Amino acid sequence: MDYLILVDKFNTVPPDYADKTEFCQVQGILMEKQAGDQLKKMIDSALGQGISIKVISGYRSPDYQQLLWERSISCEMWGGLSYDEAVKKVGRTLALPGSSEHNTGLAADLGTESADDVEDNFHRTPQGRWLSRYAAEYGFILRYPRLKEQITGIDFEPWHYRYVGTEAAKIINGSGICFEEFLHFYSDKYISSMKIL
Ligand SMILES: [Zn+2]
Repeated sequence: MDYLILVDKFNTVPPDYADKTEFCQVQGILMEKQAGDQLKKMIDSALGQGISIKVISGYRSPDYQQLLWERSISCEMWGGLSYDEAVKKVGRTLALPGSSEHNTGLAADLGTESADDVEDNFHRTPQGRWLSRYAAEYGFILRYPRLKEQITGIDFEPWHYRYVGTEAAKIINGSGICFEEFLHFYSDKYISSMKIL
């Protein structure tokens, strides 16, 4: 398993990815096995400090992503947009099948205890604050930070945490770079020899 896999609109998940991947469940939600185990540890540790974190979304199969995509497109077209306009609009908030980090099982959308959906102000909640301080110790990074939108191509998402392993997470968190910058700066000298947990 490559925990430093880059998945975005230009780099899609290989078609046989799910067949080669082991999964587990966290709060009834599917995650890649090691990412899920670390997520569980992180959530337990937060709970030990009185912070209750809810897993809102984890692994999504490409088929499910396709369903979400088609549903959103037809909804917009029903509302009067042309197909091209609908694709443009939906593409701003929803990834195409295979191009979402959720298709890897390495990303989780996290929320407060009572949340039904992701929260725009999550970073201001005790849960969001706890995660920004401790997530790297468990190998997770805030994948789409503020002021990095031009590089990641995704708006600030305070709820979306991505497992990259503790070593990479500590470098990324400690130096204030985003994942794309990490891959750029460290790809030659570090990544091939990096031991991931
Ligand atoms: Zn997400």
